[in-house]
Amino acid sequence: MRGTDLRSLKRLLADAGRVLAHEGQGDYVAGHVSLRLPDQPDLFLMKPAGIGLEEMSDENIITVDLEGTKVEGAAGRHNEVFIHSEVLRARPDCVAVVHTHAPYAVAFSSLGKPLLAVSNDGAFFANGLPVFEETTELIITKARGQAVARTLGQYGALLLRNHGIVTAAPTMEEAVWLALKLNQACHLQLMAEWAGGPKRVGDPQQAKTKGAYASRPDIHTGVFEYVLRRASK
Ligand SMILES: [Zn+2]
Repeated sequence: MRGTDLRSLKRLLADAGRVLAHEGQGDYVAGHVSLRLPDQPDLFLMKPAGIGLEEMSDENIITVDLEGTKVEGAAGRHNEVFIHSEVLRARPDCVAVVHTHAPYAVAFSSLGKPLLAVSNDGAFFANGLPVFEETTELIITKARGQAVARTLGQYGALLLRNHGIVTAAPTMEEAVWLALKLNQACHLQLMAEWAGGPKRVGDPQQAKTKGAYASRPDIHTGVFEYVLRRASK
């Protein structure tokens, strides 16, 4: 269990960026993650603009409020900050939001097909995977951020069609885990599509049971710390 002092929270956010980058979710300097401050739930830490996901540090992480206004830090703020501010506003149960241009998820979103339980990974989204289709433009206004939050509803993940993914969770580790699993689920379904299309997929009820069993805090943390060790080698 990590600490909840500011330094530990910044370290956790920076590590989330390293895990995502190591797993191929970086898009040069695009993509961002945020983490709500437990003592000030209207504020959150966020990756700054202009650097890669794996380049966050104590010095460059910025602090932002729920209006999307930067309140601390010298580095620039991402124009898509409203994904984070509006999802965190709409979801008091969540502390962490991830937005990346996860390549397999983006390619999959262009098919216009539902995500199936081709693999274990697909089971984690067996309860539904919302797709944001109001626009394929960037989420650079409060209104668009609100629309994304509405589409996400109470789910943990969504596809932004032709753009990327958003995940939100009660822990940083779970938000990252959902991002990794969503990209992997899309990758495996794409592979099945390349081979002629999936003919047999997991029974929906079994997929829900499997998804519920295999998505647990110890697994989220275990995967996070494992990828971090690999990224550090
Ligand atoms: Zn984006």
